[in-house]
Amino acid sequence: MAYLNDNYLKLKAGYLFPEIGRRVRAFTEANPDAASRLIRCGIGDVTEPLPPAVIKALHLAVDEMGSRETFKGYGPEQGYDWLRHAIAKNDFRRHGLDVADDEIFVSDGSKCDCGAILDILGGKNEIAVPDPVYPVYVDTNVMAGHTGEANESGAYSGIHYLPCTLENGFVPEPPSQHVDVIYLCSPNNPTGAAATRPQLEAWVQYAHEHGSIILFDAAYEAYITEPGIPHSIYEIDGARECAIEFRSFSKNGGFTGLRCALTVVPKSLTARTALGESKALHPLWNRRMTTKFNGVSYVTQRAAEALYSTEGQEQVRDLIRHYLGNAAVLVAGAKAAGLTVFGGTNAPYIWVSTPANYTSWAAFDKILNDANVVITPGSGFGSQGEGWFRVSAFNSRTNAEEVARRLKLLQW
Ligand SMILES: *Cc1c(COP(=O)(O)O)cnc(C)c1O
Repeated sequence: MAYLNDNYLKLKAGYLFPEIGRRVRAFTEANPDAASRLIRCGIGDVTEPLPPAVIKALHLAVDEMGSRETFKGYGPEQGYDWLRHAIAKNDFRRHGLDVADDEIFVSDGSKCDCGAILDILGGKNEIAVPDPVYPVYVDTNVMAGHTGEANESGAYSGIHYLPCTLENGFVPEPPSQHVDVIYLCSPNNPTGAAATRPQLEAWVQYAHEHGSIILFDAAYEAYITEPGIPHSIYEIDGARECAIEFRSFSKNGGFTGLRCALTVVPKSLTARTALGESKALHPLWNRRMTTKFNGVSYVTQRAAEALYSTEGQEQVRDLIRHYLGNAAVLVAGAKAAGLTVFGGTNAPYIWVSTPANYTSWAAFDKILNDANVVITPGSGFGSQGEGWFRVSAFNSRTNAEEVARRLKLLQW
């Protein structure tokens, strides 16, 4: 009999969202009348349709595919030059950041890239992950065999958890011990916290002192409204020598169903071989992409390009304004209900402290049963998330207003 990958058996079997689904189903079966009142503020998925500039580009590209003269087969695995150029120019060089077109790798999603990046990193790295955090960072390391078993609270041996708490404003500080690979997500899913320039400078300095690599997830970069908050890790001097950045069109352009993202791997980023020699990672990622990936569809890349047109940029700003407007409504509602709230100003998530010593799951049940609203229990993102819950602002304004109203009515 063939062997399976035992590491998969260590996974806390996709606990969070299936468990939410199970509890919501049990509730709607027991309360069929309440089912129509149910408002979902759980999953981090966009709700608004694609911007008109994207739809126009999609139609044009589809027609090109239908004619022999303009049909496209396989494209470059790294992405079409015109898209890599538009990204490097608009997202980086326009802001004074030194990123070359061929340091951009276009992909079908940041989730995949966050997992795939482990392909080019060694198996002996000490991994540091914020807690609470986007579960993909931890689970992909478990699958790659970088951890031991999980304990009762779901923490894996072999991973350094960086506590994100009320005290540090949910932005982790560099640890006192050595780690090789550090995941940072700013603005953060689930807490909505965004790292300041001094906080990111401390991380880049740490990475230089320890020869570490920072994996910087900027999926929510477009939601930053506070001036002075870095949009890219490359705004920090020295980051080109220690950081990879992940960006996605999912949350700014509403591409969660269309699928397009990018990874920046600077040519000046190095890591060491088993023999201690320093080598660039850029050729390894290029090799990884050309071997294991066959590129994003032409049609999708044209759609992504349209986000950089004048209308596209305006329409993206409207989308962000809509979701951040929802977040403001939710923050105001939760505050009026006497709850302690974070986030919502630089991210489409609000992070709420459970009152009256409720656990995250007890608060989930209470809000589901009494307010008929689905939130996400903070403990599902890591043990430090216990005592908190996340409310997603990805919704219609009407729903956000109704959720705010119901939160105020809740009796804890
Ligand atoms: C939504 C999200 C992404 C984007 O993932 P895609 O695969 O590009 O849709 C990346 N990181 C975080 C933390 C997210 O919440």
